[in-house]
Amino acid sequence: MPDGSCRHLDKTTNLCTIYAERPLICRVDDFYDAYLSTTIEREEFYRQNKDICRQLQSEKDQRT
Ligand code: SF4
Repeated sequence: MPDGSCRHLDKTTNLCTIYAERPLICRVDDFYDAYLSTTIEREEFYRQNKDICRQLQSEKDQRT
């Protein structure tokens, strides 16, 4: 969406409206298994995801 949020995010509940059918990129473990299991450790992938989420939240907070 123009504010950077996903069009499938219900902003009232803060939940994904297509959770059961969400794309692979949104399914952390499945994405890891499909593309990254031979590249980096799972815990490192989790850590990177967490860092990116915090960075995006910080940038969003600065815009509002
Ligand atoms: S899980 Fe994926 S599809 Fe669902 S709201 Fe978040 S970014 Fe959008």
